[in-house]
Amino acid sequence: MKYYDKLIFELSREGRKGYELPANEFAKGSLDAIPADLMRREPADLPEVSELDVVRHYTNLSVKNFGVDTGFYPLGSCTMKYNPKINEEVAAMSAFTGLHPMQDEKTVQGALEVYYNLQEALAELAGLGEFTLNPYAGAHGELTGLMIMRAYHAMRGDDRRRKVIVPNSAHGTNPASAMVAGLEVVEVKSKPNGSIDVEDLKPLLNDEIAGIMMTNPNTLGMFETEILEIAQLVHEAGGLLYYDGANLNPLLGKVRPGDMGFDIMHINLHKTFSTPHGGGGPGSGPVGVRKGLEDLLPNPRVKKEADGTFRIEWGKDSLGSISAYLGNFGVMLKAYAYILTLGKENIKNVGPMATLNANYIKESLKDDYLLPISGVCKHEFVFDGLKDKSTGVTTLNVAKRLLDYGFHAPTIYFPLLFHESMMIEPTETESLETLDEFIEVMHKVAKEARETPDDVKNAPLTTLVRKLDETTAAKNPILNYKTLKAQG
Ligand SMILES: *Cc1c(COP(=O)(O)O)cnc(C)c1O
Repeated sequence: MKYYDKLIFELSREGRKGYELPANEFAKGSLDAIPADLMRREPADLPEVSELDVVRHYTNLSVKNFGVDTGFYPLGSCTMKYNPKINEEVAAMSAFTGLHPMQDEKTVQGALEVYYNLQEALAELAGLGEFTLNPYAGAHGELTGLMIMRAYHAMRGDDRRRKVIVPNSAHGTNPASAMVAGLEVVEVKSKPNGSIDVEDLKPLLNDEIAGIMMTNPNTLGMFETEILEIAQLVHEAGGLLYYDGANLNPLLGKVRPGDMGFDIMHINLHKTFSTPHGGGGPGSGPVGVRKGLEDLLPNPRVKKEADGTFRIEWGKDSLGSISAYLGNFGVMLKAYAYILTLGKENIKNVGPMATLNANYIKESLKDDYLLPISGVCKHEFVFDGLKDKSTGVTTLNVAKRLLDYGFHAPTIYFPLLFHESMMIEPTETESLETLDEFIEVMHKVAKEARETPDDVKNAPLTTLVRKLDETTAAKNPILNYKTLKAQG
């Protein structure tokens, strides 16, 4: 038996008898609770490597990967490209990491206070009544919000309302969440400028409509100027308005979804409040509701008592639990740290700076790239590929060529309203120097497309991994290192 494996094996099995776990009753209990026949009898067949090799392996991998710490990331509809290091320090504090979700609430007052304060801060920024931080992501927040919408109608004895209106420019998660929530999706068209066509909306509003889902600014980065009229029409028809908060950035501290007439919303902490996107890892999609809907929020909830202490509540009218305990607390700590870092005054600069940066890039590049919707955008905008269509160079080619120049690609082929969509969102945290470098490279790629189009079509030329066979990668993914080794 390999030496280290054996050592670890012994420690985890025989050696466990005399080994005292840190004073944590839960962890101790759960280890002892594992039936003996489920315990490993032989050590796991892991590759045998030295510490030095492991460190080098992961360090090398980390620099091969593109990340916010290594380069500009103009991905649209994803906002945050900044993960402040202080956030990580706060989330790693042992005072927080040592807690267990089943601890008596008297012993976790500090954590509950943070949770409560973040709820309150989000409610203030959103102009809504109360928030829950339990959902794990934006899409999970959508599902939670739509379940609240259904519960609201059911509570009023109006359970016929099973249709939800979704614009054809919406993010794919909107119709998907509606289906999961048991609602039927009704599509409303967009006008050529990307905003909801109110004339198309009117005939859709009837007593079977549960509500509407909207993103404002929409996925084209344009503000829905008719939002107050839309809100009035939907409310008059007995429906509720759901706000997809993925695009909250440009409004932060300036305009509040609650004031626009929205009743329920989610916020993506990994988009607006600097928590990492985490490669599908832990996220958080807090959901807020207008006054009067708070009793429907998922359990458990954190409440503040008159004497200033905090309490975990299991409400009887709640739609139930949608996460384990109170959600991804570590992510909340990072978002809260960011909100405190900005402060009440600075947070008002987020929207204007994000808007200025997006418009600066848009205006600087519109001679080379096709801008289907002109006018002032908010935090992001969409090009419909290169302006010169004669070169045969596609949006995918441009995206791959950017990698050669050290920039991550923008979001491509979304929204679906255009064939060659290229969605760019710089955010408020990038410097003028970075924006200028990006603009220069985008011009350079457009020039190459005209003069040496094959260089762009065959890109990436200088990255570690060249062009992928995307179809095979999707159909036969290799998810195991042994398979990979066997295939050489
Ligand atoms: C990202 C996004 C979502 C989904 O959020 P997740 O946190 O990724 O689940 C929904 N709507 C829009 C407009 C988005 O950009």
